[in-house]
Amino acid sequence: MNNMSILIKDSLVLTQDGERRIIKGDIYIEDDVIAEISEGITTEAEYVLTGKMVMPGLINTHTHLPMTLMRGYGDDLALEEWLTTRVWPVEKKLTEKMVETGTRLALLEMISTGTTTCNDMYFFEDAIARTCRDMGVRCFAGFSIIDFDTPEMKKERLLPECEKFIKKWKNDDMVTPVVAPHSTYSCSPETLQKSAEIAGKYDTFLHTHCSETRNEVYDVVERYGCRPVEQLERNGVLTEKTVLAHCGWITKEEVRQVAMAGACVSHNPVSNMKLATGGFTPLPELFDANACVTLGTDGAASNNKLDMFETMKFAALVHKHHRWNPGIVTAQQTLDMATVNAARFLGINAGSIEEGKKADLICLDMNMPNLVPMHNPVSHAVYAASGFNVSSTIINGRPLMLERKFPYFDKQKIMEDAEKAKEELVESGGH
Ligand SMILES: [Zn+2]
Repeated sequence: MNNMSILIKDSLVLTQDGERRIIKGDIYIEDDVIAEISEGITTEAEYVLTGKMVMPGLINTHTHLPMTLMRGYGDDLALEEWLTTRVWPVEKKLTEKMVETGTRLALLEMISTGTTTCNDMYFFEDAIARTCRDMGVRCFAGFSIIDFDTPEMKKERLLPECEKFIKKWKNDDMVTPVVAPHSTYSCSPETLQKSAEIAGKYDTFLHTHCSETRNEVYDVVERYGCRPVEQLERNGVLTEKTVLAHCGWITKEEVRQVAMAGACVSHNPVSNMKLATGGFTPLPELFDANACVTLGTDGAASNNKLDMFETMKFAALVHKHHRWNPGIVTAQQTLDMATVNAARFLGINAGSIEEGKKADLICLDMNMPNLVPMHNPVSHAVYAASGFNVSSTIINGRPLMLERKFPYFDKQKIMEDAEKAKEELVESGGH
């Protein structure tokens, strides 16, 4: 419990409840819960905010938090060249301390732009989990499993260390530990199976990359005689607790398999377009099959932001354009992907603004040139707003940003530390 109270008065509330109601009124938050929503609440509160548009905090279902340190390092390169000449050489030099620094910067950016929960996957995940808990951000922390040595440890240690990590964090309030086999092209069938066993044993989530590029699909077909979704299924990784990042090159049959398994797709349009992966996650087909679709930014190295408002807009636009059909993915469907769909899949009692739900919500300052006049709040949230219209971010009832100030952290220090870490990372890199 936070022993804290917040009153948000005279607000326009995008509830994202079952009827997608938009209401006017006050919201009273006590401890970590939305205690009351009605008009004219007079209860005294520690913090009072007025006159905002309030909506559920956004949920980013695929990211690599510490990659903020590589923001803008190696733009305009194809995926392979970007990985081999930029990302991997830099990652070799990563230390736990740098990972913490990059994570703090990522969380600061997320809080600044209205994201309240993330589903991460990286190395030094214990340090990432700790940083998220310390800063108060809800995190699904994916311990990366891959058939290579990582900057943190030898490959042989990954599975046993992952199991220890899951045990350590499984009862935490803010951090949920996740098993994250990197992909079907970087994990052998045995590695996939062992990852699935650990997730099954502790009933936790799996997080993997799936069909990001066409080359990856060719490679998996050549090696295993089946496409990535089938390969995950054969090895026990396609479950109702699996988040599949990208799915840019999946077939109609794979859409059916994903839906049947009850797995969740994390659509990452900005990263896919920036790396020119050429695939279009088949959103309309996934919707028709009743598959769970959510949104992710991917790491800041390939995005280069963690702004989920931007990701929402790209997610809607790319499919309208691709299908020559402006109604194919609507603003409401897009907002659902970034809020209720993700909350439901991840099993968090948030994603909508209703009494009794966790207080994970954000306030937008509507007195901004890009948000005036107001015809339709959902349209504004998806097409007109940017993350920097968010004025306050509340996670688990704690106001981590209030009127664009950060009561709990030193914003300037977080940014300066990141700049220093970047110098250390690239100084001998020759770029
Ligand atoms: Zn990724």
